[in-house]
Amino acid sequence: MVRALTEAYPDAHCELDFGTPLELAVATILSAQCTDKRVNEVTPALFAKYPTAADYAGADRTELEEMIRSTGFYRNKAASLMGLGAALVDKHGGEVPRTLEELVELPGIGRKTANVILGNAFGVPGITVDTHFGRLVRRWGWTEEQDPVKVERAVGELIPRKEWTMLSHRVIFHGRRVCHSRKPACGACLLAKDCPSYGLGPTEPAAAAKLVRGPEAPRLLELAGVVEEVPERTVEQAAAKEPLA
Ligand code: SF4
Repeated sequence: MVRALTEAYPDAHCELDFGTPLELAVATILSAQCTDKRVNEVTPALFAKYPTAADYAGADRTELEEMIRSTGFYRNKAASLMGLGAALVDKHGGEVPRTLEELVELPGIGRKTANVILGNAFGVPGITVDTHFGRLVRRWGWTEEQDPVKVERAVGELIPRKEWTMLSHRVIFHGRRVCHSRKPACGACLLAKDCPSYGLGPTEPAAAAKLVRGPEAPRLLELAGVVEEVPERTVEQAAAKEPLA
């Protein structure tokens, strides 16, 4: 399954736009209960206005809230960003720290966010257990754990450490494009033959193909071996389905 995921998503990556560890921390806080696409619409102006931790610490709350309003829960998120800025200035010289222990002490940063930052901004292998990751690894029988920390530990024992970050991206990509929460596209899934949960969603290829999302849909359908059976029109429709949530 890991090999198939690698073939399907060779360039899987963090779908949040960022240039620095601070920007990634900010974008990850904003991504709670919000699509990455929406966050990426908001962050260019935000990053330009608040380039340093001190800028968030000293931000005008109303102004900051207004800039991030469209990402939802903007009052809480603004409070987290201001708290994060202040904590970084007070305890870390304005820099984002590089250890899980230090990161999870920061306002707005939980274990999931800390692993995203470690893996993507600092190159430290990390397993990101978000809602997609947890759902998929349980469907695959890799673990039965519900608690994200226990899921992280269980999967960490199965997969070599150096692969943790890319595996996280690939699993999350598959969860967003194919193995959806309510209606997984089992009949058009490249993992179908190895998946113990095959049949959880529609197994008829043409019906399942309509559920596959994202610009890579035609290639994913081809890898699943269903492209011949799917009318051209359906493949195009699948490719056009955005955003990935
Ligand atoms: S076969 Fe179905 S349940 Fe299994 S990974 Fe594919 S879409 Fe998900």
